[in-house]
Amino acid sequence: MPVPPTKSHGRLAISASAKPREVMSDTPRLKGAWCAKVVTLFPELFPGVLGASLTGKALQRGLWALEPIDLRIFGTGKHRQVDDTPAGGGAGLVMKPDVVGRALSMAATGAPDDPARWPRVYLSPRGKPFTQAHAQRFAQAEGMTLLCGRFEGVDERVIEAFGLEEVSLGDFVLTGGEIAAQAMIDATVRLIPGVLGNAASTEDESFAAGLLEHPQYTQPREWQGRAVPEVLLSGNHGEIAKWRRAQAERLTRERRPDLWAAHLARKDE
Ligand code: SAH
Repeated sequence: MPVPPTKSHGRLAISASAKPREVMSDTPRLKGAWCAKVVTLFPELFPGVLGASLTGKALQRGLWALEPIDLRIFGTGKHRQVDDTPAGGGAGLVMKPDVVGRALSMAATGAPDDPARWPRVYLSPRGKPFTQAHAQRFAQAEGMTLLCGRFEGVDERVIEAFGLEEVSLGDFVLTGGEIAAQAMIDATVRLIPGVLGNAASTEDESFAAGLLEHPQYTQPREWQGRAVPEVLLSGNHGEIAKWRRAQAERLTRERRPDLWAAHLARKDE
């Protein structure tokens, strides 16, 4: 797949940002590059892990863009209040719909309304569990907006009003949505052409074909009395592919009966 040129004049896009000056990055932004807008009380946590390694290099090259939007500046009153006690009582605090709504409206500027072109996600343990299929769908879009909750989460009305899709990182409760947002952005961005050096490597990874990946080995040929499987050193590409396929099937059958059943059902079709 062609890699977009990284040094071409007049291709940088400009957009309004609610990110404080001091954390503005000097990374270029290629026009049309996939963009993640992240609404968060902790913009300083971004790019976080996304700034390292391949995702970080791709960000610097402008293959994708990141726009943290600081929720605090949309807060009300002198103290820029963003949360309040839950209606009906109970422990904790709920993020206010007026505050979150203003931040999401800001995020909406310059983004298409069509959720297929621009998914709007609220990170939430109540959401559908995130899968590789989500990452593929998000990567096909022009960008996405991610709302990170804190405390007890956000007022339900803002989820309804903005038609937010709730997506969960898994069946556990985090303190905030930022780790989940970074995980989802990472899984998405690595599917964008040019982000991984070797585009073929996303094609035979875990989940790509509905199976877990086969075991991997490298040098040395023998380590602590354990040898690299002979077939991998044979140079026989047909045999190697067969072995890897059999291992992928074995691991999936043993570890993920759910994926294995779906795989068998697809084969029957
Ligand atoms: N009271 C909520 C949990 C709030 S945790 C409940 O019981 O459902 C605070 C914030 O962390 C949430 O608003 C959400 O944005 C984020 N979060 C927590 N667990 C998450 C998960 N598994 N996936 C995605 N986001 C999560």
